[in-house]
Amino acid sequence: MSPREQGAAPLTARWRDVLMDTYGTPSLALVRGEGCTVWDESGRAYTDLTGGIAVNSLGHAHPAVVAAVGTQIARLGHVSNLFAAEPPVALAERLLRLSGRAGGRVFLANSGAEAAETAFKIARRTGRPQVVAAEGGFHGRTMGALALTGQPGKQAPFLPLPDGVRHVPFGDVDALRAAVTEETAAVFLEPVQGEAGVIPAPEGYLRAAREITRERGSLLVLDEVQTGIGRTGHWFAHQVEQDIDPDVVTLAKGLGGGLPLGATLAFGAAARLLGPGQHGSTFGGNPVSCAAALAVLDTIENEKLLPQVQRVGAVLREGIEGPRHPLVREVRGTGLLLAIELTEPTAAAIQSTAQEAGLLLNTIGPATLRLAPPLNLPEERAREVVGVLGAVLGG
Ligand SMILES: *Cc1c(COP(=O)(O)O)cnc(C)c1O
Repeated sequence: MSPREQGAAPLTARWRDVLMDTYGTPSLALVRGEGCTVWDESGRAYTDLTGGIAVNSLGHAHPAVVAAVGTQIARLGHVSNLFAAEPPVALAERLLRLSGRAGGRVFLANSGAEAAETAFKIARRTGRPQVVAAEGGFHGRTMGALALTGQPGKQAPFLPLPDGVRHVPFGDVDALRAAVTEETAAVFLEPVQGEAGVIPAPEGYLRAAREITRERGSLLVLDEVQTGIGRTGHWFAHQVEQDIDPDVVTLAKGLGGGLPLGATLAFGAAARLLGPGQHGSTFGGNPVSCAAALAVLDTIENEKLLPQVQRVGAVLREGIEGPRHPLVREVRGTGLLLAIELTEPTAAAIQSTAQEAGLLLNTIGPATLRLAPPLNLPEERAREVVGVLGAVLGG
């Protein structure tokens, strides 16, 4: 018998009683998922456009991920980094191959924040004291990642943070040029600022950042935790434009297909700045998470999901933007990382109306909703979603 059948309180109430109140109590408890569909405690189905915040790249319970995880946990679940195992090695090889560049090295961890911490430690090892990041940028909640995060409200309760980080307006080339000096170890940027509201870097900005950092001898670190692994219809969002070649790339979210996994890729001199004993993670490179990631990468390739992401993303965007709903100011983003900017601060209300109508959305600002559905969202399903959303937004 489940706790529910034994007469226990609903999951959301139990959550509220025992989990720290860092997220607010969820309005919904989920018990099962398959593909782009999830079910709540009462058996009601929803189309999941949150994708676990851009994590469930293949949706829920994808057979390739289920098989990879099952096989690996039955064979060898965890070894620590005292020993080599096939999945982390194969994953590092694979990620470097996808980067299209030679001579890189990978550090495997468990989350986006840890990937950012790794990049921050690489930056410190240059011997230069300063780091430049973007206002509005988000790199995670641990102290180092929070220092990089350009959102004073999130930082304020936790001061003092690691020192030496300066924030500049995102997308402003002149401000970046003025801030980056010979004292700058690294520049941290997201190709699309996800948490800030799905704000793509203006065209040419990343290339300018590459030129400026190269001139000053600073590292360019691109946080692709949210944008990487197919989310924008490219393996990495920065590959849309040529010649950007970051020194460091951080990944997490969609990489493990729902399992906790982060990766920091570094190239050139940056790949050799962390030496023996200078960094580590007990769970980092866990074989089960890495096996899941390899299944994700195989599936994206075999099912040709990158062009599908671009196509289905366009269906959603045009379907939402096209009818000119008075409530929609604009649709931003790229591939299957989209935001609906409303004309009024009613995102939370729209999210709950959508939930009533069987669609799960993510509110990321008073007037901003995010869509980050599974990369394999079928085109037919996207058209259905557009119909339901149209009713929710227009009704
Ligand atoms: C989510 C996110 C992070 C933090 O990842 P966690 O796994 O929550 O630590 C860092 N950077 C970006 C761009 C993100 O979207």
